[in-house]
Amino acid sequence: MEILKIENLSKVYGRGETAVKALDDVSFSVNKGEFVVIIGPSGSGKSTLLHLLGGVDRPTEGNVIVDNTNIYQLNETQLAIFRRRQIGLIYQFYNLIPILTVQENITLPILLDGHKVDDQHLKEIVQTLNIENRLTHLPNQLSGGQQQRVSIGRALISNPAMMLADEPTGNLDSKNSNEIINLLKMFNKKYNQTLIVITHDERIALQADRVISIEDGRIANDEVIRP
Ligand code: ADP
Ligand code: ADP
Repeated sequence: MEILKIENLSKVYGRGETAVKALDDVSFSVNKGEFVVIIGPSGSGKSTLLHLLGGVDRPTEGNVIVDNTNIYQLNETQLAIFRRRQIGLIYQFYNLIPILTVQENITLPILLDGHKVDDQHLKEIVQTLNIENRLTHLPNQLSGGQQQRVSIGRALISNPAMMLADEPTGNLDSKNSNEIINLLKMFNKKYNQTLIVITHDERIALQADRVISIEDGRIANDEVIRP
């Protein structure tokens, strides 16, 4: 089943002399539950693509259709709700809020939506991530690997349709990197969530179902590894 469809997506930053075309007429589809790795040189448009898939930015041209919703036809309020419910975003430097505890960071997307936290779901997530005894700590009291696990918890709490990760292991040693990728893969299978990861790490690319290479804002290669 198709969960994501990208049609003729282009993104230009700035205008006139200094305009940069970061994405140039990109189209592809992703199935529910697929684990896709996006690779490509620095500056090729990977982060721009991921942000457009996550409803974080707006394209210059083209459509992003998630679960039959053309997300850039939504207004800002609807788009914000879409992001919190359907998208789990994970960054290289975790992007946790330093003055909030681990538990507050994880549950924030639910609280912002005005919903009550499902304590059972929260418990299951923090136990699986092995951070259940860190819930009252602040992010700077945790190691890098732990902070990334908190950010995975925050991304998972709303049961999103898609998990999007931009260099999630870029700031971690190989032991912690393996742990993070194994967790992402495990949740990908367990919840049948679509997982899209930007990485420079060949070892991670080898574990994906599919690898899409981006060069100069275009798809250079799209290879299914595991059908
Ligand atoms: P990657 O993630 O592959 O390194 P990016 O998507 O970050 O690539 O960037 C693609 C191109 O768009 C680069 O030339 C970059 O300098 C440019 N770019 C990215 N974000 C912005 C921005 N906010 N304003 C202007 N140019 C940008
Ligand atoms: P890792 O092997 O995950 O990178 P570290 O060696 O960085 O872990 O940290 C080891 C332990 O010390 C971890 O359990 C972490 O929570 C704790 N720790 C690290 N930094 C701090 C800190 N600034 N304050 C309190 N505890 C910390």
